[in-house]
Amino acid sequence: MSPVWISCYCAFCKSSRRVYTKRHVRAMDVLYASALGILMSLFFWQEIDFKLIPFSVSVLGLMEVSIQIRWRMSLPCKKCGFDPLTYIKSPSKAAEQVRMRFEKRLEDPKVFDKRLPMMSSHKRGYRLAPSNTNGQIPQNKI
Ligand SMILES: [Zn+2]
Repeated sequence: MSPVWISCYCAFCKSSRRVYTKRHVRAMDVLYASALGILMSLFFWQEIDFKLIPFSVSVLGLMEVSIQIRWRMSLPCKKCGFDPLTYIKSPSKAAEQVRMRFEKRLEDPKVFDKRLPMMSSHKRGYRLAPSNTNGQIPQNKI
C-alpha cells in the first residue's frame, strides 16, 4: 500500500512541503463505503437491504470528489504558489501565478517579512557563515 502523502521540496523555492499522492479511491475505500452502507441499512431498516447500494455508491462518489480536491489543492506550494501541474501544461501561466502571488505578498500589510522564500543554496550559505566574524568577511575568504 503506497503512502497517502509524501514529503518533498518545491521545484521553485526548494521549501519542504507535503503532497498527497492518493488521487482516487482505493479498494479499502470501497470496503469502508460498503461497511458504512451495511451499517446504515441495519440502522434504518434493521436488516441488510439492497437500498444500501445507492447510499454506498453516493458515499464512494463523495469520497472520490473529496480525494481529488484534496490532491489538487496540495499540489501548489504554500509559500511561493508554484503549481507543478500548471507548469507542465503552460510554463508561462505557472510563472504568472508565482509573480501574482509575490505581488500580492508585497502589497499585503499583514505580511511582515516581505522577502521571497530563499533557495536552499542561499540558506546553506547562511548557515555555514562563521559566527565569530561579527558580520565581517574573513580576509582569507576574499
Ligand atoms: Zn515553493
